[in-house]
Amino acid sequence: MSKILLTIEQVDKLIRENRYKVDPEKKFLSRCIDGRYKNEDGLPALAFPGADVGEIAMVLAASKSFGFDIDFKKLITTLAEVVGGVKNIKFHTDHHATPGVEAAGCGHFKQMKLDPRAYGVTSDETELIQQELKQLKNKGAVETILEGEHMEGAVIMVNGNWGVYPQYNLETENGNKFVEIFVYHQSLVDERHRALCSALLHNKAITFKNGEDEEWLYNTFCETSETHLMETAKRLAKGLPIYEVKFEDNGDYKIR
Ligand SMILES: [Zn+2]
Repeated sequence: MSKILLTIEQVDKLIRENRYKVDPEKKFLSRCIDGRYKNEDGLPALAFPGADVGEIAMVLAASKSFGFDIDFKKLITTLAEVVGGVKNIKFHTDHHATPGVEAAGCGHFKQMKLDPRAYGVTSDETELIQQELKQLKNKGAVETILEGEHMEGAVIMVNGNWGVYPQYNLETENGNKFVEIFVYHQSLVDERHRALCSALLHNKAITFKNGEDEEWLYNTFCETSETHLMETAKRLAKGLPIYEVKFEDNGDYKIR
């Protein structure tokens, strides 16, 4: 199957049919940017590289890049608190159709393990996260399994209280083509980072070295998240067009 690079008109059609209102009760539940999530009721709108695995790695990277101490155990319990319990901590692997071939897992986390330095972490830290995932599964977190080939034809950066399903049957001159998009939900990511920063400080999970504050911490999360997104985009979404979609509360939107 050949990939289609989506034009702005095609993205407009996809968004029109695939948009859904964010459920305020579930706004902090996450999914990966991966386009292989099925369009299903209850799909988290907050899309972030690696979902919560990416989030944990992002905080570790921020702590090293910007120089604050983080208590790893408290980071995990605080993240669980922010998302409403361990069962709501989200991460994924994938399924390989060939027996005996190991699943590749989440592309973002895989790239991080291949090149930890580019992501500002160490291989000890990616191993620590890997081990933690086992613990989380024992405590009730469910690992989503994504199937099929990657068919993403664009990267969509979303702002506003609407989510976007990643899969679409696009009408073309040569018949219907199945397409997917990578989704990054900028405004929900920012909102959750605000909540996470506040909870981390409340739980004394963070020790500042030079009297920094919550706003400073939030900015380190923003910068590190952007770095992680770009590192993965240049590896997994190379050559794809990037569109920004800004939603009004009534679901109207603008794309650029
Ligand atoms: Zn992933």
